[in-house]
Amino acid sequence: MASPTDLRTSEALQVLRRVFGYDTFRGFQQDVIDHVVAGGDALVLMPTGGGKSLCYQIPALVRPGVGVVVSPLIALMQDQVDALTALGVRAGFLNSTLDLDARRRVEAAFLAGDLDLLYLAPEALGSRATVQLLDRGKIALFAIDEAHCVSQWGHDFRPDYLALSMLHERWPEVPRIALTATATSATRTEIATRLDLTGARHFVASFDRPNIQYRIVPKREPRKQLLGLLRDEHPGDAGIVYCLSRASVEKTAEFLTANGIAALPYHAGLDASVRARNQQRFLREEGLVMVATIAFGMGIDKPDVRFVAHLDLPKSVEGYYQETGRAGRDGLPSTAWLAYGLQDVVQQRKLIETSEGDLAHRRGLARHLDAMLALCETVRCRRSQLLEYFGEPGTPGCGNCDTCLEPPESWDGTIAAQKLLSTVFRLDRERNQRFGAGHCIDILLGRRSEKVAQFGHDSLTVFGIGGELREAEWRGVVRHLLAEGLLAVEGDYGTLVLTETSAEVLGRRRSVLLRREPERPTSGRAGRSR
Ligand code: ADP
Ligand code: ZN
Repeated sequence: MASPTDLRTSEALQVLRRVFGYDTFRGFQQDVIDHVVAGGDALVLMPTGGGKSLCYQIPALVRPGVGVVVSPLIALMQDQVDALTALGVRAGFLNSTLDLDARRRVEAAFLAGDLDLLYLAPEALGSRATVQLLDRGKIALFAIDEAHCVSQWGHDFRPDYLALSMLHERWPEVPRIALTATATSATRTEIATRLDLTGARHFVASFDRPNIQYRIVPKREPRKQLLGLLRDEHPGDAGIVYCLSRASVEKTAEFLTANGIAALPYHAGLDASVRARNQQRFLREEGLVMVATIAFGMGIDKPDVRFVAHLDLPKSVEGYYQETGRAGRDGLPSTAWLAYGLQDVVQQRKLIETSEGDLAHRRGLARHLDAMLALCETVRCRRSQLLEYFGEPGTPGCGNCDTCLEPPESWDGTIAAQKLLSTVFRLDRERNQRFGAGHCIDILLGRRSEKVAQFGHDSLTVFGIGGELREAEWRGVVRHLLAEGLLAVEGDYGTLVLTETSAEVLGRRRSVLLRREPERPTSGRAGRSR
């Protein structure tokens, strides 16, 4: 005899086949669905493309009542509802883009029980009218999509998400399922606490995306390096290029277009209609390159994004993982490429220094940046390091990242580091001056630049002691020391200063292992593109 759970399970499977047209569940979809159908709360962490949507859509169809989905992705709600409607699922949404008529229709359908799924913007739950509406209907479950938006550390933080703990207080009998693709254990704990989901069952999928090839290359002429990557390995492919600033988005899009690559810009400074049009084109046309700030991408479901390129350093490993995760949702080989240079470190450190928020907040930001820098500077498998960061035990070399495909040579850079730190130490006495990395390197290389002459720095004992390395290598040394916290930057001009741990290197109590810098600028092609 089948138990009630078995019956419901088979109902879920029937829905999967009949409505969605798939044969079998993926990963732990079935476990999540059973748990939620039975009325349990769940916290689901699955990488992008893992199949989170079915985890709440199927329970919403199986349980009596309407599944209420809270999502910050207002611009995508229409698309999501259209896609569901095409499958015969009765779906609607309520957000600020609806006119009064349309809103009334959706509300009436909800009250009449004529909906399976209702999508809501988080701010809607702050309105009494919406809460009262929900009170009058039957709710099957609450799904909280992109649940990491409740985390104040992430760049997707939405204050409205903090208020979502009220769902449990107001409707304690309705099961809740929170879903996200961002997932260090710290974020997970934060989500559980803030959403009052501490009693929820956690479902954590592997975050490995084996079809994505991770590559991080030294930044020289980033746009040219990017162009090389697109021409050599991704001609005609759709992809996303992330830049830090709006200006650099514009310039990069123009540069690519001028070089015969179909590219569109996307950033928050563009007109909403231009943004919407570019997004639509990117989704519907083939082979377009979207050049964007991180304002672009959350919730974008385009399976055949073949590459994600970063021209600037992401602020955290979480961000990097999420952005690169938009590549290859169809499971086919894809590239995650990042060009990173000394200037990135200086810039990011400065952003943190000048950021609003208290010391604890700035420390949090610095910790996140440090982890990102460690990923850039590593001589180990990038994928193992990434997965370890997300709490998955280390795997042996993955064979599909740059360090696995072309193991970087490392060298003992302790003496070079000492030379550099000594130079910084000598300059430290003129602290109110602007001596950034470039000036230090000029001194080490024995270059009589204008500034060197002006300050008489050619008479320093360290002048010209660094001729054994090329400029690019010295920049690598600075970058590495910054990444390791053995050196720091201060002030508006990126002045280099010693840190508490610099003395360990100067006193030979700590050695420094460096990645060998490649001879010439490359797009960092790692083996054959697969
Ligand atoms: P996520 O929200 O986790 O990024 P989606 O829910 O958008 O992922 O699913 C990614 C893709 O995988 C979608 O095209 C979806 O239809 C497909 N998919 C999900 N579950 C299954 C399954 N059990 N079998 C086949 N395809 C699936
Ligand atoms: Zn690897």
